[in-house]
Amino acid sequence: MITLSGSCLCKAVRFQISGPIMKTGHCHCESCRRATSSPVTTFLSSAIKHVAFTGAPRRIFASSPGVSRGFCGACGSPLSFETEARPGEIDLYVASLEGAAGVPIEQHWYWNERVDWLTCQDDLPKHDD
Ligand SMILES: [Zn+2]
Ligand SMILES: [Zn+2]
Repeated sequence: MITLSGSCLCKAVRFQISGPIMKTGHCHCESCRRATSSPVTTFLSSAIKHVAFTGAPRRIFASSPGVSRGFCGACGSPLSFETEARPGEIDLYVASLEGAAGVPIEQHWYWNERVDWLTCQDDLPKHDD
């Protein structure tokens, strides 16, 4: 059991995770790249029942069928990713945790979609999906 907290840039939306982290990874997919305007997006996955959002409600953008990306309606920070393919789970951005807190990152996803102008030299498993 761990407790982590985070927020968007303007802190209108805050969240707290009170439970185990299910998995973590760096996502290189084009969809995440565009949603964040960043070359890599680092996620942690949790059961939705262990995540509490407070403050302003998230805005939701359906970026592809069955996929909901949450963001702050005031400052625009990306906040969450949910897909019908993994019901009951939510992905949150590790970079939005308070105090530059981190969690151990386990793997890379969509390695085949990565940009060629960023070098990632680690020993983590690199998956193409
Ligand atoms: Zn905000
Ligand atoms: Zn992605």
